[in-house]
Amino acid sequence: MTVVPFVFQNSKSGKKESFLPKDPSHVTIYSCGPTVYNFAHIGNIRSFLFVDILRRSLLLGGYKLNQSMNITDIDDKIINESIKRKISVEEFTKPWTEAFFKDLETLHVQKLEHYPKATESIDAMVGLVETLRSNGLVYEKDGNLYFSIQKFSRYGELSKIDVSGMKAGVRYDADEYEKDDVRDFVLWKNQKSEEEKCWHTRIGNGRPGWHLECSAMIRKVYGSGVDIHTGGIDLLFPHHENEAAQSIGAYPNEEFVGTWLHCEHLLVDGEKMSKSKGNFYTLRDILEKGYDPNSIRYHLISAHYRSKLNFSLGKLEESKIAMERIQNTIYRVLEVGNLWDLVPKHYDEFHFSALDLQNINLEFMNSLADDLNVPKALASVFELVRIGNQYLDANDSNVDTKYLNEIVQLFYKMNELFAVFQFTKQVQSLEGISEEWILEQIELRKTAKQNKDFSTADRIRKELEEKGILLADTKEGKTTWKKAQ
Ligand code: AMP
Ligand code: ZN
Repeated sequence: MTVVPFVFQNSKSGKKESFLPKDPSHVTIYSCGPTVYNFAHIGNIRSFLFVDILRRSLLLGGYKLNQSMNITDIDDKIINESIKRKISVEEFTKPWTEAFFKDLETLHVQKLEHYPKATESIDAMVGLVETLRSNGLVYEKDGNLYFSIQKFSRYGELSKIDVSGMKAGVRYDADEYEKDDVRDFVLWKNQKSEEEKCWHTRIGNGRPGWHLECSAMIRKVYGSGVDIHTGGIDLLFPHHENEAAQSIGAYPNEEFVGTWLHCEHLLVDGEKMSKSKGNFYTLRDILEKGYDPNSIRYHLISAHYRSKLNFSLGKLEESKIAMERIQNTIYRVLEVGNLWDLVPKHYDEFHFSALDLQNINLEFMNSLADDLNVPKALASVFELVRIGNQYLDANDSNVDTKYLNEIVQLFYKMNELFAVFQFTKQVQSLEGISEEWILEQIELRKTAKQNKDFSTADRIRKELEEKGILLADTKEGKTTWKKAQ
């Protein structure tokens, strides 16, 4: 199979390297996912959108993917909160897991092949600890099992942490600990109180340490290491260093990760957005301020993943305006070319005959292949906007529909990455409302009526009326709509 050659800044070497997956038709990617104890903030969401950009770029490059993101549903905060609320861990994490998936859907993040949960991977964790134990890397203290980093010579290789000051037998029990402090970390925690969630296993009654979860889930899903492993930059040390220590410690003759990719932070007033600092927005917070999901997605993906992004509502507003400029050109081309009914071809099957479009297409792909340079890819989008507008300005009454068709195809392909642009007709003078959305509302109303939920059906009709859209039910049972005069 022919694929676009990519290069990535690999955290392992600290350099840009050619991406050489073992099998381009089966690229394995693992990403550290959310700890489900609250709504994700948009900093977390930036790291999930980065995974989406990685996915969509590689798909555009012709690769086939087998991708996973874990759900951390065991951690200190989760255990403590569920004890406080007197509910099970599962009851506590369920709504937060659902909220996480809802957020991803709202932001048009593509579904991955696997979402392994820590609670469903205990066997794999126990097996991994046993392998580590037989390799002489585990010791016990007060019923807890620890990884002995002194016995693992490659400790520090990934994060380049200074291990010279490390002392044997100095330990951390907690899931979170001070940065840059090199100590043995806990693999398995003994149950401390009756009410604490506990698994009865061959290695004791207790629960896993956070780092163990990811190593075990990778092994469980793939039976090996992975081509790419991603996470936020804050995870490089200790989380990823410890993951690597466990996985390489257990399987020293195998490669654990080919390429490590780390996404930079979203900042607020120059500081990392985080729950503990309280300086965060959730997706809901921003939607409630009247921003649409597309502008939020566009804003969070438009910076390079390795650049810090300072978040402010003012900057979000600027992104919204830039996005609308692109959208307006798409509408203009569709309108002038009368291409509203065009069903775009899949990007794999479309070849551009116009030379200028061929070049933009090539530039666009080259930018993505160069360590996911979305800002540069965006420059190609704006080049297309410029070319499109210039062509329409110059050829208002005598347009070449074939050329316009190709412009639409290229926008369509670019939208496979951005996933924020519309290609269906907007209702004239009903700003921001697409026909697609109205038809969705009509469908929802129909379902509500079928379920005899007449209050919902009435509410939908009223909401549409308030937006200037009138519904009429025909004798045949169909519903049509028109603009109010
Ligand atoms: P958590 O739910 O805390 O386990 O974090 C989920 C992901 O969000 C991890 O990959 C973190 O590195 C990432 N993350 C946390 N805070 C930020 C931030 N301010 N900007 C970007 N990524 C973040
Ligand atoms: Zn992880």
